[in-house]
Amino acid sequence: MDVLISEVGPRDGLQSIDATIPTAAKKAWIDGAVAAGVSEIEVGSFVPPKLLPQLADTAEIVRYAVGIPGLTVAALVPNARGAENAIAAGAHKITLPLSCSESHSLANLRRTHAQVIEEARSIAALIRDLPAERRPHFEGSLSTAFGCTIEGEVPQVKVVALAEALMAAGCDEVGLADTTGYADPAAVKSMIAALWSALGRGALTGIHLHNTRGLGLANALAAYEVGLTTFDSSLGGVGGCPFAPGASGNIVTEDLVFMFEAMGVRTGIDLEKLFAVREQVAAALGDEPLYGFTPLAGLPLGFRPASSNRSINEGARA
Ligand SMILES: [Zn+2]
Repeated sequence: MDVLISEVGPRDGLQSIDATIPTAAKKAWIDGAVAAGVSEIEVGSFVPPKLLPQLADTAEIVRYAVGIPGLTVAALVPNARGAENAIAAGAHKITLPLSCSESHSLANLRRTHAQVIEEARSIAALIRDLPAERRPHFEGSLSTAFGCTIEGEVPQVKVVALAEALMAAGCDEVGLADTTGYADPAAVKSMIAALWSALGRGALTGIHLHNTRGLGLANALAAYEVGLTTFDSSLGGVGGCPFAPGASGNIVTEDLVFMFEAMGVRTGIDLEKLFAVREQVAAALGDEPLYGFTPLAGLPLGFRPASSNRSINEGARA
């Protein structure tokens, strides 16, 4: 595998729509994704069920998913209490979002930057108290890093300073998130360079992109070209965008996998099997629109994905 595609549909996708899908349908989605070769899934968010009833079954989903061999199970946590619940359920990776725009942070998390950093410190302490083999990977996600619907432009120096604060608070890594779909390829490259020069390359390996203005894949390619290796995406772009009605949500897993596989970059994911999961999720979601081009057009005639070439080569060598 050359890049890691982290499926976030069951969390980011489902949290943005009104429809609630049954727990069994979420488990079937996860099973299907794993069968297609997906090796990391953000399965839910440990927020109060009153706020996001769609994700009320997150603890059960995490407990189910950690039983699947080879799957990294990630969950979002808004605070230390959420982290406690995520750890109790056995999540392998926990992500604390910090909105780089403080107005957005107050509007969405009702917390100042200082308060979120304090939560990060508490979560890091919780993790340190665990036996080494039970410690989840702890990521601080820099959301609205490329701009915000309330404040507009978020200065790069501010993003870098917040990333430094998250690392100092005890995060293992930070992630870049274009929550609002404001990024462009040049901004992506420039932001990654600034963060790497402040924190070192090991502190940032992944990016979370939305396709709100159609630049999602261009931004993913820009991030890949400079050396990021983990990409969040959502099957069928499930979720739409709460800030732009009618616009798609996360970048579409099917199109992202197609882009990489066509370029010769191995994702380990089988596109035909992924299309089958899409059908299954579409049925569970009812009227919710799905996005993406590759599933509608089908694969090009004679298409040979990079991941299958690898197994053919390995077969020949064996
Ligand atoms: Zn998102």
